Amino acid sequence: HAKEQGRNGYRFFESAMNANVHQQLLLQQALRGAIDRREFVLHYQPKMVSPGGPLVGVEALLRWNRPEHGLIAPDGFLALAERTGLIVPIGNWVIDEACRQMRAWLDDGHRDWTVAVNLSTMQLTHPGLIEVVRSALERHRLDGRYLVLEVTEYTAMRDAEASLAILNQVAALGVGIAIDDFGTGYSSLLYLKQLPADELKIDRGFVTELARGNDDEAIVSAIVALGKTLGLNIVAEGVETAEQQALLERLGCDAMQGYLLGRPMPPEALIRSVAHLARS
Ligand code: C2E
Ligand code: MG
Ligand code: MG
Ligand code: MG
Repeated sequence: HAKEQGRNGYRFFESAMNANVHQQLLLQQALRGAIDRREFVLHYQPKMVSPGGPLVGVEALLRWNRPEHGLIAPDGFLALAERTGLIVPIGNWVIDEACRQMRAWLDDGHRDWTVAVNLSTMQLTHPGLIEVVRSALERHRLDGRYLVLEVTEYTAMRDAEASLAILNQVAALGVGIAIDDFGTGYSSLLYLKQLPADELKIDRGFVTELARGNDDEAIVSAIVALGKTLGLNIVAEGVETAEQQALLERLGCDAMQGYLLGRPMPPEALIRSVAHLARS
């Protein structure tokens, strides 16, 4: 009898596992066709000196509009996209679309901001990257200074020599480089010093519980000092409260992103919320 139960238990486990594998395969299949079906969209999150403006940049954040599933954030498909290599064509689409949107904003008379695109580890070391960036800039008649590529500290360190060479080529196109999620990796200062970076983004993990006199304040203060020494623009991520904002400003952050300043939004909503600020 016990044996029978065990067998049933095993069968149950096996079929649950198959269902999960099946789900993964369906997801992978759906993801594969998503570019051609035009299911990806970019939302843009404002980056500002302080709440209310001026807008100094926007960050493009990928969303997948999957039929019958709604709008899916990156953590629902990015890992799979990286595992399958689909991140390369998807990421190429992101670069082109962000450049197209920036060109449309420029044509509308918005001048003062940059558009940032996130790169995954596989994209950074994929041999086609420089050509993809160069041709997107050319296709949309965009000066490189309007585009920023964000790489996490982890990605930049992964294959340090190769990354450095590629980032130098990116910089040579006039494109900005931001080090994302700073403080979560383990860059050597020697490596950091060599990176052709323009901006350092302090990870949200140091901002969430930031308060006067606590460890996070000391850490942020140290990161700001380090970043300034290296000549970098310092941006804080994940700013949600006025208290955090005031403290970050006092600590010397140059710009901020977070729900307090604005959520990631479709381009029309972004323009509605900031149009009065940045038209020249
Ligand atoms: P990230 O580049 O560090 O982007 C910041 C993430 O924090 C975004 O999540 C954003 O929506 C969220 N966020 C911003 N402000 C706040 C805040 O005040 N509070 C909280 N709780 N969250 C905030 P999202 O859009 O889900 O993206 C997650 C990550 O996925 C990004 O982290 C980035 O690493 C990656 N990602 C997004 N778009 C792309 C893409 O086009 N290509 C690649 N390779 N990665 C992408
Ligand atoms: Mg980012
Ligand atoms: Mg980040
Ligand atoms: Mg992050």
